Amino acid sequence: MVVDLRSDTVTKPSEAMREAAKNADVGDDVYRDDPSVNELERRAAEILGKEAGLFVPSGTMGNQVAIRTHTDRGQELLADEHAHVLKWELGAVAQLSSLQTRLLDFGESAVPTPEQVREGIVEESLHEAGTGLFCLENTHNYRGGVAISKAEIDAAAEAAHDHGVPVHLDGARLFNAAESLDTDAAELAENVDSVMFCLSKGLGAPVGSMLVGEQEFIDRARRTRKLFGGGMRQAGMIAAPGLLALENRGHLAADHRRAERIAEGLGEIDGIETAEPDTNIVVADVAGTGLNAEAFVGEIEQHGVLAVAFGETTVRFTTNWDVTDGDVEGAIDSVRTAMAER
Ligand SMILES: *Cc1c(COP(=O)(O)O)cnc(C)c1O
Repeated sequence: MVVDLRSDTVTKPSEAMREAAKNADVGDDVYRDDPSVNELERRAAEILGKEAGLFVPSGTMGNQVAIRTHTDRGQELLADEHAHVLKWELGAVAQLSSLQTRLLDFGESAVPTPEQVREGIVEESLHEAGTGLFCLENTHNYRGGVAISKAEIDAAAEAAHDHGVPVHLDGARLFNAAESLDTDAAELAENVDSVMFCLSKGLGAPVGSMLVGEQEFIDRARRTRKLFGGGMRQAGMIAAPGLLALENRGHLAADHRRAERIAEGLGEIDGIETAEPDTNIVVADVAGTGLNAEAFVGEIEQHGVLAVAFGETTVRFTTNWDVTDGDVEGAIDSVRTAMAER
């Protein structure tokens, strides 16, 4: 038996999603003729409390379309040093938007204080290009699926807005944050200018992410998406499963409960340290086993548990809806066996 805890992107679409794809009402979405895409964009915006939505093939495209649409060449992007938009998107902010970056250490809370934001902002002048955009990430992937609260987001966003700097939220797992904080995603997104969230992570869709914001912003983002090669034709085939994914938000609580159990179970194994997770991501420090992350991942793979090496000695385990309670117990036992047999 293999338990795949590499990511929440590894899930296979449900029968209902496959049926929805097969029977989707479609048209040419570049002409805005695809009823399934139009409905998905409308519904996504509604759930996030924004005016309009844009369907994109991936979270990376959603973030980079937003970044390009908000900024001018040479401006600074203010973000966490461990932000996904900088760390894992191939330097796209340089390649696609010609931006400079100014990095902050958001710390364990994964959100900067308003003072930090103010200090990070550069005003435009004859000599300085100025800050074009401030980015937040919720949940914060690299910092361990940390959920940041509405109060923290609002305070940081207000500091940026005070200087006329727009705010983009990389909300790949925003619904996980909302679940963990027992609030609505719309509340978390109320004071940011744009939000990207993934349909293809914990919500279980096979493909796709959404970008939402005010109508005027989304109209411009639609042109940027075209520029980046993301104008799609009969995309209702993938939008229809996405619409079902939007209704899967209720499943996330179970993922979080299972992540908590993984953190607890792994934490009892000699040499492995875990912190209690906020959401569906568990980051384990395996330094005490004498293995680095790559070697640890290799060892547990031999015992049927898949995870990803995250840092030098940190390994990420992510629950997803194809992982059952039984799988979780099996995975903990397998890791224990793998370490005992070394
Ligand atoms: C996964 C992820 C993305 C990118 O999504 P893709 O669909 O893999 O391109 C962006 N930001 C965060 C925080 C993510 O976890």
